[in-house]
Amino acid sequence: MSVEQYPDVVMPECPVERVLEGQKALVTGSASGIGKAVAIAIGKAGADVVVNYRGGADQANEVAAEITKCGSRAYAHQADVSNEDQVKDMFRKMIQEFGTIDILVNNAGLQQDAPFDEMTIDQWNTVINVNLTGQFLCAREAVREFKRRDVVKAVSCSAGKIICMSSVHEIIPWAGHVNYAASKGGVMLMMKSIAQEVAPFRIRVNSIAPGAIRTPINRPAWETREAYDKLMELVPYKRIGEPEDIARAAVWLASDHADYVNGVSLVVDGGMTLYPGFAEGG
Ligand code: NAP
Repeated sequence: MSVEQYPDVVMPECPVERVLEGQKALVTGSASGIGKAVAIAIGKAGADVVVNYRGGADQANEVAAEITKCGSRAYAHQADVSNEDQVKDMFRKMIQEFGTIDILVNNAGLQQDAPFDEMTIDQWNTVINVNLTGQFLCAREAVREFKRRDVVKAVSCSAGKIICMSSVHEIIPWAGHVNYAASKGGVMLMMKSIAQEVAPFRIRVNSIAPGAIRTPINRPAWETREAYDKLMELVPYKRIGEPEDIARAAVWLASDHADYVNGVSLVVDGGMTLYPGFAEGG
């Protein structure tokens, strides 16, 4: 199913501005889905990009090649974000290759769903380790480098930017996905607490909270017409989000256009968090 099948839906056309020229970015989990779109958009906006991946090297190399075509440097780096040593190595190599890091997009994430009373400790730990601890490990390395390097005025007004990929499920409880909702709720207060602590160092930390975005993580929710129509009951704007919707928000948040934005979750969800069930009645 594609948006072409919904001729009443008008998709935005947005000219690319090189608002991130000269910056260095790391996007975790960027071989697919939202991370891929974010990495490409950040590259088109002028930043050099590390394309982190866990599984598919070919896909990650293709993303890096697409960024290179836009005139920015890029390479793919395999690392499991929940592994402290691998995260440290990834940052060490990035600083060797690119000299520093200006933008971290903490995007890698996964789901392992189960009814609560059937959820195994492995399912719980895997989701928390990747979605929450992985973001902690990468953010900590980034903040260490931001503090060491400080502001370079010619590059950006701030010493560094972190964008955490959260979810509307940092707000909306999600039955059958308790581990996932707990991880994203954790990301929200982790992000805000880091933001509060490092703001005096001119470091900005924010989240994006996507609603339903068309990616592999939620394929069953959009791949048939029936599933798509059911999903639309939850989306007042009556279209699924595309990864590019999130990518545009990420470029803006990472740029100096958002210099006074710190410690917020930017919800990008077509109105999913507007309690659409209350549109009539209530
Ligand atoms: P996706 O295409 O499945 O992307 C997730 C990426 O994370 C994959 O490339 C995956 O790589 C990578 N990853 C998983 N575990 C990793 C690890 N330990 N180390 C490094 N990379 C790892 O799904 P997506 O929708 O784009 O998800 C991206 C982020 O958006 C996630 O944080 C997700 O929670 C969030 N989000 C998505 C939606 C949505 O509707 N799609 C809504 C709200 C929030 P492998 O495939 O190799 O494992």
